[in-house]
Amino acid sequence: MKKESDLKKLFGYAGAYKYLTMCSWILSVVSALMALAPFVYIWRIIREVLAVAPNFGAATGLARNGWMAVLFAVTSMVVYLCGLVCSHLAAFRVQANIRSQAMHHIVKLPMGFMDDFGSGKLRKMVNESSAATETYLAHQLPDMAGAYATPVGLLALLLVFDWRLGLLSLIPVMLAFAIMGSMTGAKMKKKMEEYQNSLDTMSNEAVEYVRGIPVVKTFGQSVFSFKRFKNSIDEYEKWVVSYTKDLRLPMTIYTTAINAVFAVLIAVGLIVTKNGVTNDFLLNLLFYIIITPVITVTLNRIMYSSENTMVVADALERINSIMAVQPLSEPSAPKHPADNSVTLADVSFQYKDAKANALTHVALAIRPGEHVALVGPSGGGKTTLASLVARFWDATDGEVKIGGVNVKDMAKEELMNTVSFVFQDSKLLKTSILENVRMAKRGASREEVLSALHAAQCGDIIEKLPHGIDTVVGTKGIYLSGGEQQRISIARVMLKNSPILILDEATAFADPDNEVKVQSAFTELFKDKTVIMIAHRLSTVTSCDRIYVLDNGMIAESGTHEELTAQSGIYNAMWTQYGKAAKWKVGTLNA
Ligand code: ADP
Ligand code: MG
Repeated sequence: MKKESDLKKLFGYAGAYKYLTMCSWILSVVSALMALAPFVYIWRIIREVLAVAPNFGAATGLARNGWMAVLFAVTSMVVYLCGLVCSHLAAFRVQANIRSQAMHHIVKLPMGFMDDFGSGKLRKMVNESSAATETYLAHQLPDMAGAYATPVGLLALLLVFDWRLGLLSLIPVMLAFAIMGSMTGAKMKKKMEEYQNSLDTMSNEAVEYVRGIPVVKTFGQSVFSFKRFKNSIDEYEKWVVSYTKDLRLPMTIYTTAINAVFAVLIAVGLIVTKNGVTNDFLLNLLFYIIITPVITVTLNRIMYSSENTMVVADALERINSIMAVQPLSEPSAPKHPADNSVTLADVSFQYKDAKANALTHVALAIRPGEHVALVGPSGGGKTTLASLVARFWDATDGEVKIGGVNVKDMAKEELMNTVSFVFQDSKLLKTSILENVRMAKRGASREEVLSALHAAQCGDIIEKLPHGIDTVVGTKGIYLSGGEQQRISIARVMLKNSPILILDEATAFADPDNEVKVQSAFTELFKDKTVIMIAHRLSTVTSCDRIYVLDNGMIAESGTHEELTAQSGIYNAMWTQYGKAAKWKVGTLNA
């Protein structure tokens, strides 16, 4: 039943090409049945040889039967190839459709979803899943159709030639089928899933481990970080061993059974022939012995085809999990914000699958041109709040408004032009500085880019580069420090010139040499703009118009630096702590 619905899904992507797929099955079945014919002709040859022995010259039909066998074998191959052509045409179409539909869907999804997933992982998922359906439709399904037709054809042949021997050779086959069922049943499927999961976890941990090497080197956390990786390997080992052990007995019986058909036949043959034997019986026995390898091959095909079915079911599930994510709604009649204010009215937000709210009843109003800071303990909800303003997610409850208009009612394009989100690790692409900055505004002139770069204090960077703004970043010998990359990405935002800016811990990377330049680049950038900055280093927030302290998803305190330090609250405690740390730093520098 499950397989049928998967097939339906695949046909959904195939469109009219599904008839080609069906055509390939029919051709594959015809080919499989034709492949049995040569055995009949070989049997005829043997029969004739036995009949005329030892006077072999009397055999007249040998050449004719031989050629018929060849003819059927060749035709069967040709028919099979035609089937493959059909199945490939359909499979390529399905693969292309899955990719394009998934990609079209992904671009409509909330930014936050992309962040969560990582664009690399998404791309890999779409590519691998669609590739899995390609192999399945192009090769596995038609082969399966053929593999199922063969036993039926065989059964007919077996029973026609000698029903006793036919039934006899069916006994091991039945046994093999029964065991195959137990190996691919629901329990085993669950095992395989868990095995797959532990494999995924291990790969993820391996990536995390490599990523964490800088941290490990800096803080010497080797044992700790290694432990998680090691645990995941141990877990994987556990599943592999258990999966393999569970398969040990059934697999042994299965392999023995499907290879034992002719052993059974010979044993019985020996017993029967003890009391004298007819030529006919010997002849039929020969036929069965000739044909048993076909039974083995066919059963193996069916066996592995069920594994393939599981793989493709998994691939479709992955694609569906992406397609099931709701895209952001598009307003039918977009509204324009009246000004550059930002208002959150009783906003609550819960991440999918999270137990608690990340934001609870948050209300704040930022006037146009105001500079506010979000501070507070890690996990307090700062990043979440900021991403709601840029509509990376939609609020679960309440309204997020820009200039009095709910962000859901703004055209996507306008929202993107109104709000700039500056991430702490804005990456430069492997292209020229010019193109890197121009990304922010399509069709911007060289002069515009240059003036943005100068406003972002990048003059010194460009001067030292061999080809100025045409220098390609990331090529050999071209190295930009974290602070320099940051200034280039500030130039990007400068060029975009959107009236509302959100900075997430944007100053975290600045090294002392760059600090002054980055600060004045920001001062230039902040002019006449509404700014929401998330800051860890409190020195950068003291001059803000207002500071919001977020704790546990709620606004715990708000006010200016002076107001907040005058009361004893979270901010005051953070400030005292910060002062101590700063003093300690100065102290060690002086020592
Ligand atoms: P902050 O930026 O103040 O450190 P965040 O806004 O990142 O805090 O996180 C607020 C809460 O939401 C935390 O409890 C965090 O674990 C949770 N959270 C953050 N991002 C996600 C996410 N993508 N999926 C699920 N939970 C998240
Ligand atoms: Mg954060």
